[in-house]
Amino acid sequence: MVPVSPVARRLLLRRFAAGTSVFGTFLLPPALHAAMAAKPPFRHPRGNTQGTPAPLVMLDPGHGGKDPGAIGVSGTFEKQVSLATALELKHQLEASGRYRVELTRASDVFIPLDDRVDAAQRRGAALFVSMHADALADHSVRGASVYTLAPTASDEQTAALARTENNADRFIGRQWQGASPEVSRILASLVRQETRTGSVRIARSLVGSLDQDLPMLQNPDRHAGFVVLKAADIPSVLVEMGFMSNPRDEAALRRPDHRKLVAEAMHRAVEAYFAGTAPIAGETRPGVG
Ligand SMILES: [Zn+2]
Repeated sequence: MVPVSPVARRLLLRRFAAGTSVFGTFLLPPALHAAMAAKPPFRHPRGNTQGTPAPLVMLDPGHGGKDPGAIGVSGTFEKQVSLATALELKHQLEASGRYRVELTRASDVFIPLDDRVDAAQRRGAALFVSMHADALADHSVRGASVYTLAPTASDEQTAALARTENNADRFIGRQWQGASPEVSRILASLVRQETRTGSVRIARSLVGSLDQDLPMLQNPDRHAGFVVLKAADIPSVLVEMGFMSNPRDEAALRRPDHRKLVAEAMHRAVEAYFAGTAPIAGETRPGVG
């Protein structure tokens, strides 16, 4: 059977339920049809009063295990900062009672980028948030920034960041394996359109929310080809909470009270995203930082 995520299933059922679509008469291959009809793979339905499972937010603390990520000027490992902040955000989101939250890693272990995306898809995540504090060549640059997926990078600084994060061109649309190339292409483009809109929305929410309390990188809403954001069917965003290469950012991110502030800002953005409210601030600001 072709594994299909809940978002893709909803979209496809809507578009193809009658066997026709904007593309004309359209017959799903039997394997794909069976996958569409299958129950969504929710694992821990906590349920609200209406019995609807709370949306699953997948937090992705960058790096881990043998991969320390960036190492700060005074020796802080990015992998520690990303995990500590993700655990704080998980705590805050769960305390709201409105979300289920899982982590791609909850301890100091190495997880390949593809496996992080796979985990989110397997669990039926509604949102994927990757959390980092990388290094830039220019140590004077500081502040938070937010990244979505795009075929080309918004600027050279972001392109360099994506090159560091991605160690190979790993992306293959796994969820469509088994479908014919034509069907795969149509389905993937439909799903990506919806995913892209969601990704841009959460990114703007994050920029608006972080901007209220934290120093921000110039043009903080950026995009590039990050492998970890390539789930075709889950709105995905990568947050650089600051840069390990900057002494002030590193010192701040070592402090639990600062990490709590970062998590609170991200929590507000997630709330705004799921509430469907307008972005707090921060239109897309392409350009060089
Ligand atoms: Zn990183």
